[in-house]
Amino acid sequence: MVVGRRHARSAGAFFVTARFLPYGRQWIDEADIAAVEQVLRGDWLTQGPSVGWFERAFAEKVGARHAIACANATAALHLCMLALNLEPDDAVVVPSVTFLATANAVRYVGAQVAFADVDPQSGLMRRQDAEDAIRRAEARGWRVRAVIPVHLAGQTADMAGLSALARERALSIVEDAAHAVGTHLTGPDGQKVAVGACDRSDLACFSFHPVKTMATGEGGMVTTNDDALARRIRVAVSHGMTRDPAEFSDTLAATAASGQPNPWYYEMGEIGLNYRMTDLQAALGLSQLSKLDAFVRARQTLVDAYDMALAPLAPVLRPAAKVPGVSAGWHLYVALIDFAALGLDRAAVMGRLRQDGVGSQVHYIPVHTQPYYRRLYGDLTLPGAQSWYHHCLSLPLYPAMSMTDHDRVVATLTRLIKG
Ligand SMILES: *Cc1c(COP(=O)(O)O)cnc(C)c1O
Repeated sequence: MVVGRRHARSAGAFFVTARFLPYGRQWIDEADIAAVEQVLRGDWLTQGPSVGWFERAFAEKVGARHAIACANATAALHLCMLALNLEPDDAVVVPSVTFLATANAVRYVGAQVAFADVDPQSGLMRRQDAEDAIRRAEARGWRVRAVIPVHLAGQTADMAGLSALARERALSIVEDAAHAVGTHLTGPDGQKVAVGACDRSDLACFSFHPVKTMATGEGGMVTTNDDALARRIRVAVSHGMTRDPAEFSDTLAATAASGQPNPWYYEMGEIGLNYRMTDLQAALGLSQLSKLDAFVRARQTLVDAYDMALAPLAPVLRPAAKVPGVSAGWHLYVALIDFAALGLDRAAVMGRLRQDGVGSQVHYIPVHTQPYYRRLYGDLTLPGAQSWYHHCLSLPLYPAMSMTDHDRVVATLTRLIKG
C-alpha cells in the first residue's frame, strides 16, 4: 500500500465532484472494507472476538499492559474519571485549549474543572500552567486530584514536568491522547516510547473519530499499566456487570449446589454504562492499525513540506512551535497567523481559502470561555490560550492528501499573504 497518493477507489468520487480539501479526513481502503464485511457476514456484530483482538493489538502497539476499547474518546475520558473516584469538591486540571470533551468528562462525574493556560506558541500545557491552575483551584477550596495533559495536534504536553508535579502532589495523570495516536517521545533513558505506554501517566485515552489519525467511525481506547484501574474500567464500560466468579460478592447466589458458578449469574457491584465498542468498529480498527505507521509517515512528510514551503510567509504566518524530542502522529497542522498584520480577519482568510477549495478550522475556542463554564466559574483570564486562539488556523492534513493538494494549499496561502 502506498499512503500519500490519493486512493482512487475510496476518495475518487469525492474529489472529482468537489475538489475540496477538508482539514482532515479518513483513509479507507479495500482491506478495511473487507475487514468490516467479514464481521457483517459473521456471527457477532458486537461483543464478539474482534474487540479483544483490537485491544490486544493496540496494547502491544503502544507498549501498555492493558487496552480497553470503548465507544469514543469522550467515553474513554469519562471512564477514566469514574475510575479515579472523584468527589464533588475534587478538581482536575484541564488545559483550556482542547476539545470540549476533555473538560466535560470531569463534569460528568460532578468534579470541578481547574482550567490551565497553555504555551501560546505550541498550544500545550506546561508545568507552570498546571501549578497556576492548582493554586487557583485551592483558593476556591477544591482538592486537586488529577491532571489531564492534552497532546494537542499530536505533539505531547510537558510529560516530564507534569509527571514530576504529579508525584510531588500525589495527583493522577490521565493523558488525552485523542490527537496522539502514533506519537512517540524520547524517554528519560533516551529510548523512544509510544504515547499510550503510560510510562509517566496512569491512563491514556485515544480517539478513532474519522478526522483523527486512524478511524473506526466512532471509537476510543483507554490504555493503562495499572491492573486495578483496568479492571474498574473494563467493568464500567459494560453496565458495571461482571461474570468473573473471582469478583462475585454474593457467593450463595452465585453458586449452584454442585459448587460450580451458576451459568446465568452476573453481578453489578458498581454502576456502569454501555460504552462498548462494536465488532464492526474493532475490525476496522485492527485493519487501520496495520497502516498506522504508514499514516504517520505520510503525515510527517506533509508537515515537513508545509514547514519548508510556508517559511517565506513569516512573520505573518508561522507554524506552531515544534516540541523537541517528540516524533508526532500529527493529527493537525496548525499555522499561527498574525491577522492584524495581514489586514484580514480570520473569517475572511477562511472564506478566501474555501473559495479555492481549501478547508481550514480553528482548534480550539478556549473551553473556559464557553457560556456553560463561564456560568459555573465566572470569567478567567488565560493569556496563552487567548493568544493561541486568536492566531491558530488548522490547514488540510491527512494521508490521502497528495503533493499537488499540498501545493495548492501553499499557493493559495502565499497569494493571500504575499498578494
Ligand atoms: C476528538 C477529541 C476528543 C473526543 O473524541 P471522540 O472520539 O470524538 O469522543 C477528546 N479530546 C480531544 C482533544 C479531541 O480532539
